[in-house]
Amino acid sequence: MNALQTLVLNADYRPLSVFPLSSWHWRDAVTALLLDRVALVANYEQVIHSPRLTMQVPSVVALKRYQPLDGFPAFTRYNIYVRDQWRCQYCAREFPSSELTFDHVVPRSRGGRTTWDNVVTACAPCNSRKGAKSLRAVGMTLLRAPHRPTRRELAHSAGHHTVDEVHHSWVDYLYWDSELDE
Ligand SMILES: [Zn+2]
Repeated sequence: MNALQTLVLNADYRPLSVFPLSSWHWRDAVTALLLDRVALVANYEQVIHSPRLTMQVPSVVALKRYQPLDGFPAFTRYNIYVRDQWRCQYCAREFPSSELTFDHVVPRSRGGRTTWDNVVTACAPCNSRKGAKSLRAVGMTLLRAPHRPTRRELAHSAGHHTVDEVHHSWVDYLYWDSELDE
């Protein structure tokens, strides 16, 4: 039960973020419920007993106050994969996360920074082939020039790479076509 996560929806009952999926540890969700910051949407079957309360573990909650989704996503390894659609930006082939690495287009040794516009997803062979050289020096090209995506672009890039194992109570809030898929 310790590992249970609670899906967190915005006040419009859409996920607060999809990539990565907005979820809290259930204890934080219970705290937010007791503080009246979120509304209860669905429960797990597990029950919490404490001296002062007995309740089911929340599986889905929704913020009471709408949180605007404008702006840019966090610069994280996961979000780089999402932006690049799990494709090596040199050979254009798709790989599972475990076989991907990151490459600094302008090598760090030449002042290249770890930023959205200088880090790309690369497979290990392409990464070692490029090494700490410039694109021109190795004669390699990029599939797409890296850039900082908006939240909307990132959600679009994720395409079919959605979360594959979620509790059934989450599904209604994650996919429009969940019924059609079954
Ligand atoms: Zn490659």
